[in-house]
Amino acid sequence: MNEDILYDDIINPILNKETISNTTPTNFMKTYDYENVAITDIVNNIIVDSINNKASDIHFNPTEDGIIIRIRIDGELRNYANVPGYVKKNMITRMKILAGMNITESRIPQDGAIKQKILDKDVDLRVSSLPTNMGENIVVRILDYSMSTQGLETLGFNDTNLKKIIKMSEQPNGIILVTGATGSGKSTTVYSVLQRLNTIDRNIITVEDPIEMNIPGINQVQVISDIGLTFAACLRSILRQDPDIIMIGEIRDDETAKIAVRASITGHLVLSTIHTNTALNTIERLLDMNIERYLLGTALTGIVSQKLCKKLCPYCRGTRPTTPYEKKVFKNSLNLDINEIYETKSCDKCHDGYKGRIAIHEVLEINQDIRDAITNNIKKEELRDLVYSSGTINMLQDGLTKVINGDTTFEELVKAIDIDDSDLTSKGLTESLEIAEKNKNILIDNENIKKIVEKNDSDYEVFDLDFLNN
Ligand SMILES: [Zn+2]
Repeated sequence: MNEDILYDDIINPILNKETISNTTPTNFMKTYDYENVAITDIVNNIIVDSINNKASDIHFNPTEDGIIIRIRIDGELRNYANVPGYVKKNMITRMKILAGMNITESRIPQDGAIKQKILDKDVDLRVSSLPTNMGENIVVRILDYSMSTQGLETLGFNDTNLKKIIKMSEQPNGIILVTGATGSGKSTTVYSVLQRLNTIDRNIITVEDPIEMNIPGINQVQVISDIGLTFAACLRSILRQDPDIIMIGEIRDDETAKIAVRASITGHLVLSTIHTNTALNTIERLLDMNIERYLLGTALTGIVSQKLCKKLCPYCRGTRPTTPYEKKVFKNSLNLDINEIYETKSCDKCHDGYKGRIAIHEVLEINQDIRDAITNNIKKEELRDLVYSSGTINMLQDGLTKVINGDTTFEELVKAIDIDDSDLTSKGLTESLEIAEKNKNILIDNENIKKIVEKNDSDYEVFDLDFLNN
């Protein structure tokens, strides 16, 4: 793979010799030659190496003896390097200089950014420092836009959900919300929808904090709260700019929510994200935000909820029999008898059997019944029944289908979803059943799948969702 070549070229020249033979993707630990190589070169290499490893964050954690550097890959922090004490101050200072921070100030937290070419690679990093009792802790968030142009079709939506999203996004007005925790890939989904809608006949304006990706043809506004340029303030101005589509980075407060609803009702399509777990929780959260129920009922078009699971490595995955508990979950949720599922192995192409991440989704289209329910303030339980009996494939069903397909494992799914959560025991599952039934046969022929995946290696990479962590 090209990635491996690049990786070796950049890293090996400044590594201690004994570690060179050990730089497989499964072992991230590095020992740099701190005595003979300039700190600027070492820091540059740490940054580029992290990006090449598809890390989302780099942590410089000061200790009594130096710095422990960790990088987050596929959502997990991993040890990367132990920096000796005599380099500690230089390394932190170098990072602060790169990020444009005040190096004479180490008592208060600072924010900075790095946006330049490092070792021929364009990097865009958000850097924050926090004074701790051991010195300044530096965390670098890597913004990597390279995957965003791959399109909505590559994000792992099943056919039913994909069709729903496309239909919702083609409405001239309404609010589409993408929900999930931090790091669930919400921004990626929103950007992918925006890119799909980004045609010459539409005026698209975004308000973001931070702008995570530059899209040519779209007017993007960065929120600067310090000078009063808040989400709400930006939105009020945007409405005077004749927009067709408005993207709000995140709905965090009542005022932003109200403006979003008003914009939708006055004929704009509004896309945004919100921190909630499921479609149902999103409606409840919005109602808690002090928005008039009838306006919300009218404005809301759809809710896309998502979580990320680690993606099973297609090169080495094996199979195992299902446990009685797993059998029961498949039976209850999908009405399928599943006797065998995929499990992790390990190979030189992956990290402990996983490579990249895949999203699991729940896409709720707001129909008239749900609109009426929101407007008429019906009980939570009744709202839940309505939501999950309207043909919505819930997150558990989508996840289980992806387990059957060998995209992720049951173990990963359990980490992402509380299976006993009553929100997820659903009734309407015909489409999910059909998808699962269709894919069940694939399990039989694991070898064949491997061949197909290897042949389509480039397609496989497309499903990697690490690049945006919000
Ligand atoms: Zn593997």
